[in-house]
Amino acid sequence: MTRERVLSGMRSSGKPHLGNLLGALKNWVQLQETYDCFYFIADWHSLTTGYADTSQVRESVREIAIDYLSAGLDPDKSVLFIQSLVPEHAELHLLLSMMQELQDLDLATYGFLGYPLLQTADIIMYKANWVPVGLDQVAHIELSREVVRRFHHLYNVQIFPEPQPKLTEVPKLPGLDGRKMSKSYDNTIYLSDSPEVLTHKVKTMMTDPARQRRRDPGNPEVCPVFDFHRIYSTAAERQELAQGCRTAGIGCIDCKGVLIRNMLTDLQPLHEKRAYYAAHPQDAMDVLVAGSVQARTVAQETMAEVREAIHI
Ligand code: SF4
Repeated sequence: MTRERVLSGMRSSGKPHLGNLLGALKNWVQLQETYDCFYFIADWHSLTTGYADTSQVRESVREIAIDYLSAGLDPDKSVLFIQSLVPEHAELHLLLSMMQELQDLDLATYGFLGYPLLQTADIIMYKANWVPVGLDQVAHIELSREVVRRFHHLYNVQIFPEPQPKLTEVPKLPGLDGRKMSKSYDNTIYLSDSPEVLTHKVKTMMTDPARQRRRDPGNPEVCPVFDFHRIYSTAAERQELAQGCRTAGIGCIDCKGVLIRNMLTDLQPLHEKRAYYAAHPQDAMDVLVAGSVQARTVAQETMAEVREAIHI
């Protein structure tokens, strides 16, 4: 029996950070056990916004390749590939664009206009049943389903499953300054940060602003450090730290010390693999290139069916 398929990817518009690990990669690693997974690096998609300065795209692809493997994506279980190495995605995007109807749109570039359709091509190329996404992406998957229905209706075929969003519970991890973790706020911990850099970032992280001095009691509920404890520390540790914070029994330095220790333990396997791939980036790229050849075999089969349906 063949397994259902999952497809997901990341735009190559920078280096992955802890939010990406918790919000996507950890989930993808688990999905590998149950589904046939295709995970890609969306380098074409990064041009939707980053077309004017492409100087970092290749570097970003390399970094993501390293982080994919370091986080536990396994080429023996999943197909890991780079979008631009499977040019069939562009062909399918073009073919889908021919049948797409437009309403009044206020878009700056053709790339933006075509982005949801390119995303649809990425998904249905592999006949994915599931797409792990956040709530903000559900509308895009709905559009993919509409495109599939329209394609089937127009050409009187049944080639693609209608992809469904796979919503996942994502633990809340704020940025170092308490806002959303985002590279545009410069408040991130990158997966590529060494234990020393991570330690420094946590040590200088924002705390409860009311806790100016060591003797001031604090409130863990308004402290981003405590949000990190919710992910990386045990319930018993949290209880003790919260109590110590509220009574000024411990200082923020102690509190952060526990967090740093727990984070480094949790991230140790990732850091070890990352150290290897950072020293041997070509090994990571070789895995992705081999995966792209594998993906292309599937893509070519799909395109043969699509061309047949469209009679070209
Ligand atoms: S003791 Fe911990 S939870 Fe309390 S304010 Fe300091 S860092 Fe935040």
